[in-house]
Amino acid sequence: MNYYSTNGHVQELSFKEAVLKGLPQDKGLFFPKEIPQLPDSFFEALPDLLLPQVAFQVLKPFVQPDLTEAQLQQICEDVFTFPIPLVEVEQGLYALELFHGPTCAFKDVGARFMSRCLQAFADPDKPVTVLVATSGDTGSAVANGFLGLENIDVVVLYPQGGVSEIQEVQFTTLGQNISAVAVEGTFDDCQALVKQAFSDGELNQVKNLSSANSINVARWLPQMVYYFYAWGQWKLRHPDQTGLTVSVPSGNFGNLAAGLVARQMGLPISYFIAATNRNKIVPDYLETGDYQPAPSVATIANAMDVGAPNNFPRIQHLFGNKLDALQQVVKGFWADDDQIKEIIQRVYEERDYLLDPHGAIGFLSLKKLMSGLGTQGIFLETAHPAKFKNSIEAVLGHEIAVPEQLQAFLGRQKQVTILPNDYKELALLLKQTHKEGTL
Ligand SMILES: *Cc1c(COP(=O)(O)O)cnc(C)c1O
Repeated sequence: MNYYSTNGHVQELSFKEAVLKGLPQDKGLFFPKEIPQLPDSFFEALPDLLLPQVAFQVLKPFVQPDLTEAQLQQICEDVFTFPIPLVEVEQGLYALELFHGPTCAFKDVGARFMSRCLQAFADPDKPVTVLVATSGDTGSAVANGFLGLENIDVVVLYPQGGVSEIQEVQFTTLGQNISAVAVEGTFDDCQALVKQAFSDGELNQVKNLSSANSINVARWLPQMVYYFYAWGQWKLRHPDQTGLTVSVPSGNFGNLAAGLVARQMGLPISYFIAATNRNKIVPDYLETGDYQPAPSVATIANAMDVGAPNNFPRIQHLFGNKLDALQQVVKGFWADDDQIKEIIQRVYEERDYLLDPHGAIGFLSLKKLMSGLGTQGIFLETAHPAKFKNSIEAVLGHEIAVPEQLQAFLGRQKQVTILPNDYKELALLLKQTHKEGTL
């Protein structure tokens, strides 16, 4: 498969080249040249396939010829080692639990897949330094996904004091090829520093830099896999039912963009819901046709506090930039913090199911829109509620259990380099990283 830029000003690249490059120079986003169609036989077999098998079939056309079938098979078996169960929360309304991976968020899927691709493609004589700015979940998923890989160093930049304790220990206690840098500044400062590093000609001559944010096709595309898998699991329980709506709690809109590609490949999902918190740029656009990025506002669903969703152009591109075509498939929904808290409490009391603040918006959107659309519904539970322990405990008024994966990090020794919000200092630091050592 070749990839072109949505802005159309650069040459097509292969999968390998697009993964290594991350972002096209014309500031567009890489997009697959064709959307392959999967045969009926695949959908008939789907309810009985295991996750790595689904992944292999779905991703094969996107990675050939840069990965061989044997390589892809190995990667899929390596990445999809944890369950992604479909859990009925109430009649005809399901949670797709994407939080059973090592860092308890759906970002584990893309981060793990990308790390294996990068390892397959990295030149042993030219180690890669993966730079990533995080407000919490991306740093932990990338750090754990890349831990222990040869020829790849990871440097995670995060705002000092700006991430939760549970998030911080997941990328500051790993050691090996993972370094954590606490920047004396905000998340936006961290992102600006990373951007500056990528445009620093001198640094790029001595360091082979790569990015691991959701713009990268190797992080973006594997997210399609669980939409297919979820449909298969749903079909097992409802062989005669046809209408299905999938609600996707969204921030940068990479996850929803992946679901829409899956639909384009033939996956019979009737509708998607673009579910957001008060950062409702996309729901507003769907309603008014006016696309107005804005500074983000803080909410308790903080992984979705995005005012300029960086993957949204992929969605527009997929629908030929036609608003009405998009509106027919994607419905907008948003909720504020009070609604989120209320629904977490209510579902916990009535259904004995604990939502996280992001999944809570997905659940609520289905409650509001599903019956009007005449379908059943699945919402993506994008993170484990214990990742937002303080907010959840404040809602419920009692402590909640922390799963083993997360507990394992607590109490470990943090190793952090404190960095002033100054690019010169970062450049110096990066020049010092080398294969074996931490900073
Ligand atoms: C990253 C994240 C999201 C948003 O996903 P996008 O692909 O950026 O839209 C939603 N929920 C959680 C818990 C996340 O970590």
